[in-house]
Amino acid sequence: MAGEKGVMSQVFNWQINRKMEYPHEEHHPDRQFAFVFNLNRCIGCQTCTMACKSTWTFSKGQEYMWWNNVETKPYGGYPQFWDVKLLKLLEETNPGAQKWKGDVFDGKTIFEAAKTKAGAEPQRVLGYLPTDEEWRFPNIYEDTAVGPKGKEGSYVDDGTSLPEHKTWFFYLARLCNHCTYPACLAACPRNAIYKRPEDGIVLVDQSRCRGYRKCVEACPYKKAMYRPSTRVTEKCIGCYPRIEGKDPETQGRPMETRCMAACIGQIRLQGLVQIASDGQWAEDRYNPIYYLVKVAKVALPLYPQFGTEPNGYYIPPRWVSRDFLKQMFGPGVDHAIEAYRNPDRELLAVLQMFRKTNQIIFRYQIEPGPKIYETEIQGKPFALYDDTINGFDRDGRKIVSTKVEEPFYVRPDIHQNSI
Ligand code: SF4
Ligand code: SF4
Repeated sequence: MAGEKGVMSQVFNWQINRKMEYPHEEHHPDRQFAFVFNLNRCIGCQTCTMACKSTWTFSKGQEYMWWNNVETKPYGGYPQFWDVKLLKLLEETNPGAQKWKGDVFDGKTIFEAAKTKAGAEPQRVLGYLPTDEEWRFPNIYEDTAVGPKGKEGSYVDDGTSLPEHKTWFFYLARLCNHCTYPACLAACPRNAIYKRPEDGIVLVDQSRCRGYRKCVEACPYKKAMYRPSTRVTEKCIGCYPRIEGKDPETQGRPMETRCMAACIGQIRLQGLVQIASDGQWAEDRYNPIYYLVKVAKVALPLYPQFGTEPNGYYIPPRWVSRDFLKQMFGPGVDHAIEAYRNPDRELLAVLQMFRKTNQIIFRYQIEPGPKIYETEIQGKPFALYDDTINGFDRDGRKIVSTKVEEPFYVRPDIHQNSI
């Protein structure tokens, strides 16, 4: 992605369903690193965070560097208030007009808003540089819930009936989204950031980086991080040796990242989606990520209105205020929650594949099983079938087979560790 300085191209962003300005010409990889997180299941255990830290950021100068973090929403954030601050900046440049019209975002993205920011130095991308203090407390406001406004001591009142709880919080696990239109790349005056053509992973060429921190300022998700001991930027590298199949465990076949593989809550599924020559996702009906995002539409991008077309997708937590969720995940929230709350047979089967293997699943296939249960969910009929779902790797080899009904094990009467 090389572009002439100051020249804006028109690129199509499917998440905001329109063309938008971007400081480089459109180029797309053959496949794109993407992931789906089911926020209904995250338990905030931080195993993902520590798996990443102990692999990539345990050295001097990386003390405050958490490529993967899990923050408690609405108040938590790493760096502190990253999203609130950017939403406020956008609102200031386009007051009262940061709105969706149906599934089209009618406001300004961070690329479009940069031009209209009054005063200050001109930016290619609207952003800000967090302070040292804002990077310092990665898990601030952990487990802090909102309660009904103005009701003293009301944390236990009225809080527990769906569809929306009045008292709520949720864990938001985050890493670099390896965006289709990366803001970090767009802002770099040294062209030190690039997107790999084979998998869309966004990397910093450290020999070109001079530590100007334009990427840190521009990344709306604040996932480009400055390392003071080397004076260059570092960021999530998508565990690319694992994606390339370099891990001996998979004998050359793509493997999921460390943070995905470690997930205790089984909320994560990662994949590589096929990209067509026009930059759209090529139809790949039985790729689980394609199915969840494009067919079931149960997983949504994080702050699509920022305009980078992030490749991390989230199944929204169903108990949370809808207005809050719509601000965070866009207009698809009602549909996604409805699909998750009352899943059809195929969705229920695909949801069982989360964390059943560390290898990347390229295709799934469902073998029908018997009906084992039926009920009503919020007035609608629901049937549970004990289907079997099989997952296949890049070369078409079966790597996982699991059933919808959880297996039930009865331990023998004599336990080896009994006293
Ligand atoms: S999340 Fe930030 S650092 Fe990652 S590719 Fe997007 S803009 Fe760049
Ligand atoms: S390991 Fe999984 S469940 Fe635990 S905090 Fe990370 S994403 Fe959530």
